[in-house]
Amino acid sequence: MAKDSSSNEKYSVVIIGGGPAGIATALTLNALGISNCVVDAQASPNRKYGEALPPNAKPVLKQLGIQSLVEHNNHLSYYGNQTSWGSNQMNTKEFISELHGSGYLLDRLFFENQLWEYYRTQNGKIFNGFKVKEIEKKGHGHGIVLNSHNNNIHLSSDFIVDATGRKASISQKLGAVKKELDTQFAMTFTLELNKPITRNIIIESVPNGWWYASPNSNQTLTLMFFTLKKMIPKKGEVNDFVEKEMKSSTTISNFLNASKLKETEVKIIPAGTSRLDQPYGSNWVAVGDAACAYDPISSYGITSALASGYYAGQAIASHLSGKKEAMISYRYIIENAFQAYCEKLINHYREEKQWSESYYWKNRFSDKN
Ligand SMILES: Cc1cc2nc3c(=O)[nH]c(=O)nc-3n(C[C@H](O)[C@H](O)[C@H](O)COP(=O)(O)OP(=O)(O)OC[C@H]3O[C@@H](n4cnc5c(N)ncnc54)[C@H](O)[C@@H]3O)c2cc1C
Repeated sequence: MAKDSSSNEKYSVVIIGGGPAGIATALTLNALGISNCVVDAQASPNRKYGEALPPNAKPVLKQLGIQSLVEHNNHLSYYGNQTSWGSNQMNTKEFISELHGSGYLLDRLFFENQLWEYYRTQNGKIFNGFKVKEIEKKGHGHGIVLNSHNNNIHLSSDFIVDATGRKASISQKLGAVKKELDTQFAMTFTLELNKPITRNIIIESVPNGWWYASPNSNQTLTLMFFTLKKMIPKKGEVNDFVEKEMKSSTTISNFLNASKLKETEVKIIPAGTSRLDQPYGSNWVAVGDAACAYDPISSYGITSALASGYYAGQAIASHLSGKKEAMISYRYIIENAFQAYCEKLINHYREEKQWSESYYWKNRFSDKN
């Protein structure tokens, strides 16, 4: 039987999930003087996927007071994208002429640790290594039971934030329905490089999906192959599949002579578009991937997680001060952004017409479906 800790701590807002969205919400609430805590199932941040932070992330980083975190030497400057899409020509887009200059190639695990550390220096409380066992209605707010290794902690709050990422597990527990728009998966692994390469991201479409390559600071390269669930190979066939897909490319195939890939090093993870039917309900709101998860082709994920955390923090503060329309405004902001993203995404995939008969492109928002 789990041992009940005697503490019954009260916070105005309990944020479940300590990724970029959860920490951005917590920092915003802190700045507004609203008591809050973060709960994360991991004892310390785990390795997340996605390291490209485009230049347009800079305003939200500044707004949250965390611009200096990404300027640490562990992160690289990111100068642009090399893209082969819609033709076999490789086109380079440099960020130099853009309003915000270069972006960042994050050391993602280091960044997640920086976020926790920074929140703690702002007197933030993280219940790390705790899962949510129960949520019940308590007055106008919620009673929450956390559990870790047979130890229960009881919290009460006026408001809950679901920042659990793509799983959106808290919103679903509270009655929201998650809608998956597609079944895209990423097959991701790291290769050692035998010589340095430019700090650009490479994106290359191939008949069965598309490749993404991003250089890391330790002379390694993160590679991801994006395809649909139905095309994912069985266990034991992953290596051959990945090598075949690398050979089907023009630029990515140049990295084939890097060190031999071990199957266990290929991680297969969901990487499509999803959203909740309602991003908020009675004294709860979803932020980041929990509210809307984006296709990584967009590079929206981290920026949008930070921005939705910022807007949700502002909306919660207004809501708690009696302005009930605040959550409607939050919903409007994130649903409008999601709608604009969907239109751009569909048009972007439709630009690729070289393999319109292949399963991936036929089922990827083509004119035929
Ligand atoms: C293959 C791939 C490539 C990507 N590439 C990029 C990219 O290049 N650039 C980009 O900007 N974005 C990219 N993304 C997206 C980006 O990583 C996410 O959008 C971002 O991490 C979302 O932040 P979040 O805080 O909403 O969720 P997460 O970062 O997923 O954080 C959720 C947190 O909640 C915790 N948690 C989950 N369930 C519970 C629970 N029940 N109780 C307590 N804690 C819980 C987890 O431990 C985790 O810390 C990529 C995504 C994928 C899948």
